[in-house]
Amino acid sequence: MYPFFSYNTLFFLILSLLPHLFPARTAPGALIPGRLSPNATWNNFVNFIDAGKGANFSGMSELKKYFHRFGYLHVVDNFTDVFDDSFESAVVNYQRNLGLTVIGKLDEGTVTQIMSPRCGVSDEIIHVTKNYAYFSGEPRWGASAHMTLTYAFSGDNMINYLSFSDVSEAFRRSFSRWSTVIPVNFTEADDYSSADIKIGFYKGDHGDQEPFDGVLGVLAHAFSPENGRLHFDEAETWAVDFRSSESKVAVDLESVATHEIGHALGLAHSSVKGAIMYPSLSPRTKKVDLKIDDVEGIQALYGSNPNFHYSSLIESDVSSGWVVMNPMKWLIYLVVFVGVVL
Ligand SMILES: [Zn+2]
Ligand SMILES: [Zn+2]
Repeated sequence: MYPFFSYNTLFFLILSLLPHLFPARTAPGALIPGRLSPNATWNNFVNFIDAGKGANFSGMSELKKYFHRFGYLHVVDNFTDVFDDSFESAVVNYQRNLGLTVIGKLDEGTVTQIMSPRCGVSDEIIHVTKNYAYFSGEPRWGASAHMTLTYAFSGDNMINYLSFSDVSEAFRRSFSRWSTVIPVNFTEADDYSSADIKIGFYKGDHGDQEPFDGVLGVLAHAFSPENGRLHFDEAETWAVDFRSSESKVAVDLESVATHEIGHALGLAHSSVKGAIMYPSLSPRTKKVDLKIDDVEGIQALYGSNPNFHYSSLIESDVSSGWVVMNPMKWLIYLVVFVGVVL
């Protein structure tokens, strides 16, 4: 009567959906991205999992310095190893800003996030409209509705294991993602000194009070408008194609460039995990598509590119994660399907 559909088929369909409905849990800390990092200071933070108010751990002061660096603690010195009230409120703010469960103690998810490679720009949010945020005073480039900004690479501060054309092409794609949504064009210029946006790769202390820290940890940083400097940590293994870069700590140049250009245009960090302006990025991960949060944020500063349509963006936002993120949808579709067939 129903030759192409049977209870066996239903059984196997449900069986195949089980991994989506009940994702396997990994052992605590087993996949903490920061463990890939030779950054010993950040790696030691794994010892603080489950620490809460009143705890006293040797080395907690280093975590307080981390929180100070990224805008969550305002005391400049005298960091102790005690998990005190001000540190608890810093943890709460961090969890809120990073879209984590807000519990005020260092659960595994929070420590995992803290240890993940990230952008060096502070998370200190001055003006939050939705999830995206701006720098103090909401600076932007120029005042005209339409404009062209130039960018150039520092001849003295490039990496030599990627070809210049590969690097240039990766940045061209990154800039074009932003110009697709706002009425701003970007063109590469030869003259570094007069370019609006200046790009270079730097090692350790490079004269702007924001020293880089070696492999992973902080990956890059940029400055708010109209400064224009985009700095990348020379110590990273930058990649434009993971098929030709086997390193476990390879970092996708185009993904980080897209994020840093967002800063150069005026966006601060977002609390939306999928957004380009979320502060962290795991090694061997490509994340280059602007999400609705990024687009709303940048368009509120510059207006919309008249050729931009939200529909294409909404499709990409939905297709990028609904199978994993919304397994219940699978179940609803299955029930509807079974109902129709039976
Ligand atoms: Zn950033
Ligand atoms: Zn710098």
